[in-house]
Amino acid sequence: MLKPGVCRGIIIRRCLIGVIWLLALLAGARTLAQLPRRIDRTPPATGVAVKPPLLWVLPGEAINRWQGTRLLSLWRGDVNRREVTLTFDDGPHPAFTARLLDLLKREKVKATFFVVGKKVDEAPETVARIVREGHEVGNHTYNHVNLDKLSREQAEKEISHASASIQRACGIKPLSFRPPGGHHSEIVYQAAAKQGARVVFWTDDPGDFAKPAPDVIMARTLKDLGNGSDILLHDGIEQTLQMLPALIARLRRDGYQFVTVSEMARHLETSHRGK
Ligand SMILES: [Zn+2]
Repeated sequence: MLKPGVCRGIIIRRCLIGVIWLLALLAGARTLAQLPRRIDRTPPATGVAVKPPLLWVLPGEAINRWQGTRLLSLWRGDVNRREVTLTFDDGPHPAFTARLLDLLKREKVKATFFVVGKKVDEAPETVARIVREGHEVGNHTYNHVNLDKLSREQAEKEISHASASIQRACGIKPLSFRPPGGHHSEIVYQAAAKQGARVVFWTDDPGDFAKPAPDVIMARTLKDLGNGSDILLHDGIEQTLQMLPALIARLRRDGYQFVTVSEMARHLETSHRGK
């Protein structure tokens, strides 16, 4: 039998433990109750550029593809060279392309134009001028169609007809082919190879086709830009034309050289052979 004093001590200790447990439970409950409110009170992030969907950057399985030392498809150039390529898709547009060419001449920049065959037939003299001024002309199909939705025969026709239009316009067979939207399959690789053309994708797509403000196009272009960047722009976009002098100046200041797609591919092949 316990003495009354000992019994009182045990009761007091048990009460204290109980109170501590109770306080701990209350503190825990309070923390849990506050948690969602703390998250809700976090101010929304503002001024943060929305990262474009991955598809904009990597169309399908876009990679540099090799057959021995020959580059079959170009996505990014040599990461050890301080160079980029400017590409302009979906032209020619007689009046607009002329303004773009004037700008590139003033800036002493050589670029690559991925032209659409049926537009080439409407403005062959513009394509001749592109070549005369030292730029590269690439094939972008005849009707600007999604090649994944076509049969092998239709896809081959899209590429070969555009190639024929370009040759009629400027006397040069295009060595680069860019599938509209980047949609491609083995059929596309094979059809391009049949025309002696390399499949070209891109690394940087600022989405200028949607006509955002010039500074938005510039910021998106620079976001992930680096050595060997292949920049996708569009012929016929006013905001792109307005943005270009600033982009060119910035890239020059950062030490980049401007090359055409075929030059970029050649440099890549040279460094590949050296490995
Ligand atoms: Zn296009």
